[in-house]
Amino acid sequence: MDSKTEELRMEGIAVSPLASPKGVKYECEMCGKIACIKCKSCGVTFYCSPEHQRIDWDGIHHKICHVLQKIRSPANIGSERERAKREHIKEKAMLSIIEISKSEAMRNLVSNHFELAMAGALQAQRHSMEIFGANRVELVPAYLLLAEASMGLEHHRQAEGYLSKAKYNVLKHPDCPNILRSRLHRACGRLYLVTGRRDEALQELANDIFYSSIDAGPEHIDTAPGYFHMANAFRICKKDDIASAMYEKVVDIWYSFLSRALQHMASQNEREQQQREREEQGGAPEGQAAGGKEDDAQAGQKKKEEFVLEETQIAETLDILTRILHHREEHYGKESPLTANLHRALGMLYIYANAPKEARQHLVKAHEIYHDVLGEEDPNFLAVRHIIEIFPLS
Ligand SMILES: [Zn+2]
Ligand SMILES: [Zn+2]
Repeated sequence: MDSKTEELRMEGIAVSPLASPKGVKYECEMCGKIACIKCKSCGVTFYCSPEHQRIDWDGIHHKICHVLQKIRSPANIGSERERAKREHIKEKAMLSIIEISKSEAMRNLVSNHFELAMAGALQAQRHSMEIFGANRVELVPAYLLLAEASMGLEHHRQAEGYLSKAKYNVLKHPDCPNILRSRLHRACGRLYLVTGRRDEALQELANDIFYSSIDAGPEHIDTAPGYFHMANAFRICKKDDIASAMYEKVVDIWYSFLSRALQHMASQNEREQQQREREEQGGAPEGQAAGGKEDDAQAGQKKKEEFVLEETQIAETLDILTRILHHREEHYGKESPLTANLHRALGMLYIYANAPKEARQHLVKAHEIYHDVLGEEDPNFLAVRHIIEIFPLS
Protein backbone atom coordinates (compact mmCIF):
# COMPACT_ATOMS: atom_id res chain seq x y z
CA MET A 1 0.00 0.00 0.00
CA ASP A 2 1.45 3.43 -0.92
CA SER A 3 1.78 6.11 1.70
CA LYS A 4 -1.05 8.24 0.30
CA THR A 5 -3.57 5.40 0.52
CA GLU A 6 -2.23 4.63 3.97
CA GLU A 7 -2.76 8.27 5.06
CA LEU A 8 -6.33 8.15 3.73
CA ARG A 9 -7.03 4.98 5.68
CA MET A 10 -5.74 6.61 8.83
CA GLU A 11 -7.88 9.71 8.52
CA GLY A 12 -9.83 10.68 11.63
CA ILE A 13 -13.31 12.15 11.73
CA ALA A 14 -14.67 14.36 14.46
CA VAL A 15 -17.15 12.95 16.95
CA SER A 16 -19.08 14.85 19.53
CA PRO A 17 -19.38 13.32 22.99
CA LEU A 18 -22.97 14.56 22.97
CA ALA A 19 -23.75 12.44 19.93
CA SER A 20 -22.91 9.14 21.63
CA PRO A 21 -25.77 6.75 22.43
CA LYS A 22 -27.09 7.01 25.96
CA GLY A 23 -24.83 5.36 28.51
CA VAL A 24 -21.94 4.98 26.02
CA LYS A 25 -18.81 7.02 26.53
CA TYR A 26 -16.36 7.30 23.69
CA GLU A 27 -12.91 6.91 25.19
CA CYS A 28 -9.45 7.29 23.70
CA GLU A 29 -7.93 3.95 22.73
CA MET A 30 -4.55 5.07 24.04
CA CYS A 31 -5.24 6.99 27.26
CA GLY A 32 -8.91 6.53 28.14
CA LYS A 33 -9.73 10.26 28.03
CA ILE A 34 -12.97 11.48 26.43
CA ALA A 35 -12.60 11.07 22.66
CA CYS A 36 -13.18 13.75 20.02
CA ILE A 37 -12.21 11.85 16.86
CA LYS A 38 -12.61 8.35 15.52
CA CYS A 39 -10.87 6.22 12.93
CA LYS A 40 -12.59 6.76 9.60
CA SER A 41 -11.76 3.30 8.30
CA CYS A 42 -13.36 1.20 11.03
CA GLY A 43 -15.54 3.85 12.69
CA VAL A 44 -15.33 1.97 16.00
CA THR A 45 -12.05 3.23 17.46
CA PHE A 46 -11.87 6.57 19.25
CA TYR A 47 -9.14 9.03 20.23
CA CYS A 48 -8.66 12.15 22.33
CA SER A 49 -6.25 13.71 19.81
CA PRO A 50 -4.69 13.24 16.38
CA GLU A 51 -1.38 12.47 18.17
CA HIS A 52 -2.86 9.48 19.97
CA GLN A 53 -4.51 8.31 16.76
CA ARG A 54 -1.18 8.50 14.96
CA ILE A 55 0.67 6.51 17.65
CA ASP A 56 -2.02 3.84 17.74
CA TRP A 57 -2.14 3.64 13.95
CA ASP A 58 1.60 3.25 13.55
CA GLY A 59 1.99 0.98 16.56
CA ILE A 60 -0.82 -1.48 15.88
CA HIS A 61 -4.10 -0.14 14.52
CA HIS A 62 -3.11 -0.36 10.83
CA LYS A 63 -2.80 -4.12 11.33
CA ILE A 64 -6.05 -4.69 13.20
CA CYS A 65 -8.41 -1.88 12.04
CA HIS A 66 -10.50 -4.23 9.87
CA VAL A 67 -10.67 -6.92 12.57
CA LEU A 68 -11.77 -4.42 15.21
CA GLN A 69 -14.50 -3.21 12.88
CA LYS A 70 -15.84 -6.76 12.71
CA ILE A 71 -15.78 -7.43 16.43
CA ARG A 72 -16.88 -4.02 17.68
CA SER A 73 -19.73 -3.29 15.28
CA PRO A 74 -23.10 -3.91 16.94
CA ALA A 75 -24.60 -7.21 15.76
CA ASN A 76 -28.24 -7.82 15.01
CA ILE A 77 -29.89 -10.09 17.50
CA GLY A 78 -30.34 -13.53 15.99
CA SER A 79 -31.15 -17.02 17.17
CA GLU A 80 -29.20 -18.55 20.03
CA ARG A 81 -27.21 -20.62 17.56
CA GLU A 82 -26.32 -17.58 15.50
CA ARG A 83 -25.25 -15.71 18.62
CA ALA A 84 -23.04 -18.63 19.72
CA LYS A 85 -21.48 -18.77 16.27
CA ARG A 86 -20.85 -15.03 16.35
CA GLU A 87 -19.23 -15.31 19.79
CA HIS A 88 -16.97 -18.07 18.54
CA ILE A 89 -15.85 -15.99 15.54
CA LYS A 90 -15.30 -12.99 17.80
CA GLU A 91 -13.17 -15.00 20.19
CA LYS A 92 -11.00 -16.28 17.36
CA ALA A 93 -10.59 -12.73 16.04
CA MET A 94 -9.59 -11.50 19.49
CA LEU A 95 -7.04 -14.28 19.91
CA SER A 96 -5.50 -13.28 16.60
CA ILE A 97 -5.44 -9.61 17.69
CA ILE A 98 -3.61 -10.65 20.88
CA GLU A 99 -0.94 -12.49 18.90
CA ILE A 100 -0.47 -9.69 16.35
CA SER A 101 -0.38 -7.06 19.09
CA LYS A 102 2.21 -8.95 21.12
CA SER A 103 4.49 -9.46 18.17
CA GLU A 104 4.16 -5.83 16.98
CA ALA A 105 4.88 -4.59 20.50
CA MET A 106 7.96 -6.83 20.71
CA ARG A 107 9.17 -5.61 17.35
CA ASN A 108 8.78 -1.98 18.40
CA LEU A 109 10.45 -2.64 21.74
CA VAL A 110 13.60 -4.06 20.20
CA SER A 111 13.80 -1.14 17.80
CA ASN A 112 13.34 1.31 20.71
CA HIS A 113 9.99 2.67 19.50
CA PHE A 114 8.49 2.61 22.96
CA GLU A 115 5.38 4.70 22.34
CA LEU A 116 4.43 2.48 19.42
CA ALA A 117 5.18 -0.60 21.53
CA MET A 118 2.76 0.76 24.14
CA ALA A 119 -0.04 0.83 21.54
CA GLY A 120 0.42 -2.88 20.74
CA ALA A 121 0.86 -3.84 24.38
CA LEU A 122 -2.40 -2.05 25.33
CA GLN A 123 -4.31 -4.01 22.69
CA ALA A 124 -2.78 -7.27 23.91
CA GLN A 125 -3.81 -6.43 27.48
CA ARG A 126 -7.32 -5.28 26.58
CA HIS A 127 -8.16 -8.37 24.56
CA SER A 128 -6.42 -10.82 26.91
CA MET A 129 -8.46 -9.34 29.74
CA GLU A 130 -11.67 -9.73 27.76
CA ILE A 131 -11.02 -13.31 26.74
CA PHE A 132 -9.31 -14.75 29.82
CA GLY A 133 -10.53 -12.43 32.57
CA ALA A 134 -8.54 -10.39 35.09
CA ASN A 135 -6.02 -12.07 37.43
CA ARG A 136 -5.19 -14.72 34.88
CA VAL A 137 -1.69 -15.81 34.04
CA GLU A 138 -2.48 -15.27 30.34
CA LEU A 139 -2.35 -11.53 31.01
CA VAL A 140 1.25 -11.65 32.20
CA PRO A 141 2.87 -11.38 28.73
CA ALA A 142 0.83 -8.23 28.03
CA TYR A 143 1.77 -6.70 31.42
CA LEU A 144 5.41 -7.45 30.73
CA LEU A 145 5.20 -5.68 27.37
CA LEU A 146 3.47 -2.70 28.99
CA ALA A 147 6.16 -2.60 31.67
CA GLU A 148 8.98 -2.79 29.10
CA ALA A 149 7.42 0.00 27.02
CA SER A 150 6.94 2.13 30.14
CA MET A 151 10.56 1.52 31.14
CA GLY A 152 11.69 2.59 27.68
CA LEU A 153 9.70 5.80 28.09
CA GLU A 154 11.24 6.20 31.56
CA HIS A 155 7.84 6.01 33.19
CA HIS A 156 9.23 3.90 36.01
CA ARG A 157 6.31 4.18 38.38
CA GLN A 158 3.94 3.06 35.63
CA ALA A 159 6.27 0.14 34.83
CA GLU A 160 6.25 -0.88 38.47
CA GLY A 161 2.44 -0.81 38.47
CA TYR A 162 2.27 -3.19 35.53
CA LEU A 163 4.88 -5.48 37.09
CA SER A 164 2.93 -5.62 40.36
CA LYS A 165 -0.13 -6.75 38.43
CA ALA A 166 1.95 -9.38 36.64
CA LYS A 167 3.39 -10.57 39.99
CA TYR A 168 -0.06 -10.81 41.50
CA ASN A 169 -1.32 -12.92 38.61
CA VAL A 170 1.71 -15.21 38.80
CA LEU A 171 1.23 -15.59 42.55
CA LYS A 172 -2.34 -16.67 41.96
CA HIS A 173 -1.17 -19.46 39.66
CA PRO A 174 1.39 -21.81 41.19
CA ASP A 175 1.43 -23.71 37.89
CA CYS A 176 2.63 -20.61 35.98
CA PRO A 177 5.23 -21.67 33.36
CA ASN A 178 8.84 -21.13 34.43
CA ILE A 179 9.60 -19.20 31.27
CA LEU A 180 7.04 -16.58 32.30
CA ARG A 181 8.42 -16.42 35.84
CA SER A 182 11.88 -15.93 34.37
CA ARG A 183 10.71 -13.05 32.15
CA LEU A 184 8.89 -11.42 35.04
CA HIS A 185 11.97 -11.55 37.29
CA ARG A 186 14.06 -10.22 34.40
CA ALA A 187 11.79 -7.23 33.91
CA CYS A 188 11.70 -6.53 37.67
CA GLY A 189 15.50 -6.82 37.85
CA ARG A 190 15.96 -4.36 35.02
CA LEU A 191 13.52 -1.89 36.55
CA TYR A 192 15.15 -2.08 40.00
CA LEU A 193 18.52 -1.59 38.38
CA VAL A 194 17.57 1.67 36.69
CA THR A 195 15.81 2.90 39.81
CA GLY A 196 18.84 2.28 42.02
CA ARG A 197 17.54 -0.75 43.99
CA ARG A 198 20.64 -2.83 43.34
CA ASP A 199 20.24 -5.62 45.90
CA GLU A 200 16.68 -6.28 44.86
CA ALA A 201 17.78 -6.14 41.20
CA LEU A 202 20.46 -8.80 41.78
CA GLN A 203 17.95 -11.01 43.57
CA GLU A 204 15.41 -10.69 40.75
CA LEU A 205 18.02 -11.37 38.05
CA ALA A 206 19.27 -14.44 39.94
CA ASN A 207 15.66 -15.69 39.97
CA ASP A 208 15.41 -15.02 36.24
CA ILE A 209 18.45 -17.23 35.59
CA PHE A 210 17.12 -19.87 38.00
CA TYR A 211 13.72 -20.25 36.30
CA SER A 212 15.11 -20.03 32.80
CA SER A 213 17.70 -22.70 33.67
CA ILE A 214 15.01 -25.07 34.94
CA ASP A 215 13.18 -24.91 31.62
CA ALA A 216 15.83 -24.30 29.00
CA GLY A 217 19.09 -25.09 30.80
CA PRO A 218 21.83 -22.80 32.15
CA GLU A 219 23.74 -22.81 28.86
CA HIS A 220 20.76 -22.05 26.67
CA ILE A 221 20.39 -18.93 24.53
CA ASP A 222 17.09 -18.18 26.33
CA THR A 223 19.01 -17.91 29.60
CA ALA A 224 21.80 -15.75 28.13
CA PRO A 225 20.00 -12.37 28.48
CA GLY A 226 19.71 -13.13 32.23
CA TYR A 227 23.51 -13.31 32.53
CA PHE A 228 23.81 -10.12 30.47
CA HIS A 229 21.53 -8.09 32.76
CA MET A 230 23.19 -9.63 35.82
CA ALA A 231 26.58 -8.51 34.44
CA ASN A 232 25.22 -4.98 34.02
CA ALA A 233 24.10 -5.08 37.64
CA PHE A 234 27.58 -6.14 38.80
CA ARG A 235 29.13 -3.38 36.72
CA ILE A 236 26.97 -0.82 38.47
CA CYS A 237 28.09 -2.35 41.79
CA LYS A 238 31.70 -1.83 40.60
CA LYS A 239 32.37 -5.57 40.52
CA ASP A 240 33.97 -5.54 37.10
CA ASP A 241 35.60 -8.98 37.32
CA ILE A 242 32.29 -10.71 37.93
CA ALA A 243 30.64 -8.60 35.23
CA SER A 244 33.33 -9.61 32.70
CA ALA A 245 32.93 -13.29 33.58
CA MET A 246 29.19 -13.05 33.03
CA TYR A 247 29.58 -11.27 29.71
CA GLU A 248 31.97 -14.06 28.76
CA LYS A 249 29.26 -16.58 29.51
CA VAL A 250 26.81 -14.76 27.22
CA VAL A 251 29.37 -14.77 24.42
CA ASP A 252 30.23 -18.46 24.95
CA ILE A 253 26.57 -19.49 24.86
CA TRP A 254 25.97 -17.61 21.63
CA TYR A 255 29.21 -18.71 20.00
CA SER A 256 28.39 -22.33 20.72
CA PHE A 257 24.82 -21.95 19.40
CA LEU A 258 25.91 -20.09 16.27
CA SER A 259 28.71 -22.57 15.51
CA ARG A 260 26.17 -25.37 15.48
CA ALA A 261 23.56 -23.34 13.59
CA LEU A 262 26.00 -22.28 10.87
CA GLN A 263 27.35 -25.79 10.57
CA HIS A 264 23.78 -26.94 10.01
CA MET A 265 23.22 -24.16 7.45
CA ALA A 266 26.42 -25.08 5.61
CA SER A 267 25.51 -28.75 5.33
CA GLN A 268 22.02 -27.77 4.26
CA ASN A 269 23.47 -25.55 1.51
CA GLU A 270 25.77 -28.36 0.44
CA ARG A 271 22.88 -30.85 0.25
CA GLU A 272 20.82 -28.42 -1.81
CA GLN A 273 23.73 -27.86 -4.16
CA GLN A 274 24.15 -31.62 -4.65
CA GLN A 275 20.42 -31.94 -5.23
CA ARG A 276 20.50 -29.27 -7.93
CA GLU A 277 23.42 -30.99 -9.61
CA ARG A 278 21.60 -34.32 -9.56
CA GLU A 279 18.48 -32.75 -11.02
CA GLU A 280 20.48 -31.03 -13.74
CA GLN A 281 21.89 -34.39 -14.66
CA GLY A 282 18.33 -35.77 -14.88
CA GLY A 283 18.50 -37.92 -11.71
CA ALA A 284 15.63 -38.51 -9.24
CA PRO A 285 15.24 -35.88 -6.52
CA GLU A 286 16.49 -37.00 -3.14
CA GLY A 287 13.79 -38.25 -0.75
CA GLN A 288 11.79 -39.97 -3.47
CA ALA A 289 14.51 -42.45 -4.20
CA ALA A 290 14.29 -44.49 -1.02
CA GLY A 291 12.13 -44.67 2.12
CA GLY A 292 15.07 -44.15 4.48
CA LYS A 293 15.61 -40.67 3.08
CA GLU A 294 12.30 -39.54 4.51
CA ASP A 295 13.57 -40.18 8.04
CA ASP A 296 16.64 -38.15 7.18
CA ALA A 297 14.42 -35.32 5.95
CA GLN A 298 12.42 -35.42 9.19
CA ALA A 299 15.56 -35.41 11.30
CA GLY A 300 16.83 -32.47 9.24
CA GLN A 301 13.59 -30.59 9.83
CA LYS A 302 13.81 -31.19 13.59
CA LYS A 303 17.38 -29.96 13.62
CA LYS A 304 16.35 -26.89 11.65
CA GLU A 305 13.66 -26.08 14.22
CA GLU A 306 16.27 -26.28 16.97
CA PHE A 307 18.10 -23.44 15.27
CA VAL A 308 15.14 -21.22 14.50
CA LEU A 309 15.40 -17.75 16.03
CA GLU A 310 12.60 -15.21 16.21
CA GLU A 311 13.26 -11.90 14.49
CA THR A 312 13.00 -10.12 17.83
CA GLN A 313 15.45 -12.55 19.45
CA ILE A 314 17.98 -11.77 16.72
CA ALA A 315 17.50 -8.03 17.24
CA GLU A 316 17.80 -8.36 21.03
CA THR A 317 20.96 -10.44 20.72
CA LEU A 318 22.56 -8.08 18.21
CA ASP A 319 21.97 -5.33 20.75
CA ILE A 320 23.40 -7.37 23.65
CA LEU A 321 26.50 -8.50 21.74
CA THR A 322 27.14 -4.98 20.43
CA ARG A 323 26.99 -3.62 23.98
CA ILE A 324 29.45 -6.27 25.16
CA LEU A 325 31.68 -5.42 22.18
CA HIS A 326 31.78 -1.77 23.29
CA HIS A 327 32.59 -2.85 26.84
CA ARG A 328 35.45 -5.02 25.60
CA GLU A 329 36.80 -2.25 23.33
CA GLU A 330 36.83 0.09 26.30
CA HIS A 331 38.40 -2.36 28.75
CA TYR A 332 40.75 -4.48 26.65
CA GLY A 333 41.29 -2.30 23.57
CA LYS A 334 40.06 -2.57 20.01
CA GLU A 335 42.79 -5.01 18.98
CA SER A 336 42.41 -7.52 21.80
CA PRO A 337 41.50 -11.14 20.97
CA LEU A 338 38.76 -10.80 23.63
CA THR A 339 37.29 -8.02 21.49
CA ALA A 340 37.79 -10.16 18.38
CA ASN A 341 35.60 -12.88 19.97
CA LEU A 342 32.72 -10.40 19.89
CA HIS A 343 33.35 -9.49 16.25
CA ARG A 344 33.33 -13.21 15.48
CA ALA A 345 30.04 -13.84 17.29
CA LEU A 346 28.42 -10.77 15.73
CA GLY A 347 29.67 -11.76 12.27
CA MET A 348 28.16 -15.21 12.70
CA LEU A 349 24.85 -13.81 13.91
CA TYR A 350 24.74 -11.47 10.91
CA ILE A 351 25.29 -14.47 8.62
CA TYR A 352 22.39 -16.15 10.33
CA ALA A 353 20.31 -12.98 9.91
CA ASN A 354 21.22 -12.88 6.22
CA ALA A 355 23.06 -9.55 6.44
CA PRO A 356 26.27 -10.37 4.53
CA LYS A 357 27.69 -6.84 4.52
CA GLU A 358 27.63 -6.50 8.31
CA ALA A 359 28.78 -10.11 8.70
CA ARG A 360 31.78 -9.44 6.53
CA GLN A 361 32.80 -6.28 8.43
CA HIS A 362 32.87 -8.12 11.76
CA LEU A 363 34.47 -11.33 10.51
CA VAL A 364 37.22 -9.50 8.62
CA LYS A 365 37.98 -7.52 11.78
CA ALA A 366 38.12 -10.70 13.89
CA HIS A 367 40.29 -12.40 11.24
CA GLU A 368 42.68 -9.45 11.29
CA ILE A 369 43.02 -9.32 15.09
CA TYR A 370 43.48 -13.09 15.50
CA HIS A 371 46.07 -13.06 12.71
CA ASP A 372 48.05 -10.14 14.08
CA VAL A 373 47.92 -11.07 17.76
CA LEU A 374 47.64 -14.87 17.86
CA GLY A 375 49.15 -15.93 14.54
CA GLU A 376 48.17 -18.17 11.65
CA GLU A 377 48.22 -21.43 13.61
CA ASP A 378 45.75 -20.24 16.21
CA PRO A 379 42.46 -22.20 16.24
CA ASN A 380 40.41 -18.96 16.52
CA PHE A 381 42.08 -17.59 13.42
CA LEU A 382 41.50 -20.85 11.53
CA ALA A 383 37.85 -21.01 12.64
CA VAL A 384 37.10 -17.52 11.35
CA ARG A 385 38.94 -18.19 8.11
CA HIS A 386 36.84 -21.31 7.67
CA ILE A 387 33.60 -19.34 8.13
CA ILE A 388 34.68 -16.70 5.62
CA GLU A 389 35.54 -19.43 3.13
CA ILE A 390 32.27 -21.34 3.30
CA PHE A 391 29.81 -18.45 3.42
CA PRO A 392 29.71 -16.09 0.45
CA LEU A 393 29.69 -12.66 2.08
CA SER A 394 29.68 -10.24 -0.80
ZN1 LIG B 1 -5.61 9.83 24.26
ZN1 LIG C 1 -9.73 1.77 12.42
